[in-house]
Amino acid sequence: MLSGNTKEDTRIAFFSMEIGINSRMPTYGGGLGILAGDLLRSCADMSVPIVAVTLAINKGNLSQRLDAKGNQIELPTDWRIDDFATLMAPKVSVPIEDRYVKIQAWEYLMTGIGGYQVPIYFLDTNIFKNDISDKRITYYLYGGDKRYRLLQEMVLGIGGVRMLEALGYSNIRKHHMNEGHSALVTLELIKKMKEDKPEYKDGQILKLAREQCIFTTHTPVQAGHDRFPVPLAKCLLRGYLKDSEIDEICHEDELNMTILALDHSKYINGVAKKHGEISRDMFPGYPIDSITNGVHHVFWTSDPFRKLYDECIGGWRKDPFDLRYAISVPKEGIMQAHAEAKRLLIDFVNAKHNAGMDYDTFTLGFARRVAMYKRADLIFSNQDRLVNIAKNTGPIQIILAGKAHPSDAEGKELIKTIFEDIKKLEDDVKVVFLENYDMELAKLIIPGVDVWLNTPKRPFEASGTSGMKACINGVPSLSILDGWWLEGCMEGVTGWAIGSVDADQSDDSKDAKDLYDKLERVILPMFYGDKEAWAQIMQYTIAFNSSFFNSHRMVQQYLLNAYHV
Ligand SMILES: *Cc1c(COP(=O)(O)O)cnc(C)c1O
Repeated sequence: MLSGNTKEDTRIAFFSMEIGINSRMPTYGGGLGILAGDLLRSCADMSVPIVAVTLAINKGNLSQRLDAKGNQIELPTDWRIDDFATLMAPKVSVPIEDRYVKIQAWEYLMTGIGGYQVPIYFLDTNIFKNDISDKRITYYLYGGDKRYRLLQEMVLGIGGVRMLEALGYSNIRKHHMNEGHSALVTLELIKKMKEDKPEYKDGQILKLAREQCIFTTHTPVQAGHDRFPVPLAKCLLRGYLKDSEIDEICHEDELNMTILALDHSKYINGVAKKHGEISRDMFPGYPIDSITNGVHHVFWTSDPFRKLYDECIGGWRKDPFDLRYAISVPKEGIMQAHAEAKRLLIDFVNAKHNAGMDYDTFTLGFARRVAMYKRADLIFSNQDRLVNIAKNTGPIQIILAGKAHPSDAEGKELIKTIFEDIKKLEDDVKVVFLENYDMELAKLIIPGVDVWLNTPKRPFEASGTSGMKACINGVPSLSILDGWWLEGCMEGVTGWAIGSVDADQSDDSKDAKDLYDKLERVILPMFYGDKEAWAQIMQYTIAFNSSFFNSHRMVQQYLLNAYHV
């Protein structure tokens, strides 16, 4: 078997607070972590000499139960990291306040299509020698307060760099920070360089450090950018930096992790063309490029479509550009594969919820984190209109899923409101809200619906990736023109837009009207009246979009623009 690169040959280190490997390893929250997993899956397939660092999340990301009223109940997810990963011998420590917190690492090897292995290290403070509160630093994903978050970021950034060195990765040339959570990587690199090259001036050191750092920003939503009060930073970092050094990296009385990463990175990118633009407006003066996200094409393809592609597009597993050839895959094959994926979903929904859904009814899907800007309830905003369309144009059934962040009271309320909507619609439009949205459920829901809906408030959807998972399964999107859909939407060819690009802000009632109009006048008439045209759309969706919005292309763009070493 082809083994991975040797440690000395590994040139790139990737740091991410969360990495989604599979649904049995609950070390991810949503889009960001799953994207990190897809990036590494593609690196493994393409033998990219990369190593990844993340946190162990010993107690697992919360799993979601929903009671009859839609109240979200959060349960810890039981899992043992030693079922999946191997404990490494080296230990490192990070100075926190007046003590040293010890860190160990678990190695998971992600194996690519040709046997090449990319190591992923899970940093873990749950060690006998740490006191009880320090053991908890790596327990929860995004749990706790600002203090807990900064502790985690010290372990990830400072501890991450130290651990790679202790493990024998002595030739890392590029440090890729996936979101600002790992921005402390930059300070540890500078510290190391100062020790190695005492003759260098600060300016030279900074230049050298910047050469080595890559930063990807993932969201225009303010809450996604970590900022810590200076007194908190000084308290936790006091064993690591002098007060004056902390002052130097703070802005406006805060330690801002995005600014820290921006200031120390030579290559910076947003995750779609439009998001690059938005980020340049948010952070003027920084040279922010963009690399549009992609999803791992084999991982997100349902079994029926894998079979079809294996039969009709020989090389697609190794080379997703081949998916362009879907243009000559027989449409009957595509329709049949989709019908099979749909049957699996409808059977699941009926068995679990006694939903009474059927195979032939037009099925709309919506699943992602329940955050207010994503407007999961937009489709229910005018129920009379929705019922009218279902009665007069063609029946509709809707499948939803998504977790609200445990501290997001508004998001939790929204789920309850949707449960009320579901009740009201009961007789006319069947709707189910599936609990505990995770990667496994995503693989069932997304390929199984007929149209994938996305209704974020512009311009807050940096990229979005679930629509890309849909297109590899021949499922067209109906979406607000934001994020990746600005690049992927060919109206009436790969799906449909809601609203226009011209309006600067989203207007809920206008967007809802547009959504209903499109369902009523274009989508439902075609679905029920013109199967040939519908199959054509599915085919174009695969050929034009999945051949581009995959993580192999994304990694190649990182290699071209950022990783070149
Ligand atoms: C793909 C995915 C997401 C991200 O969905 P978006 O539409 O990009 O927000 C979130 N959660 C799970 C489980 C996913 O598979």
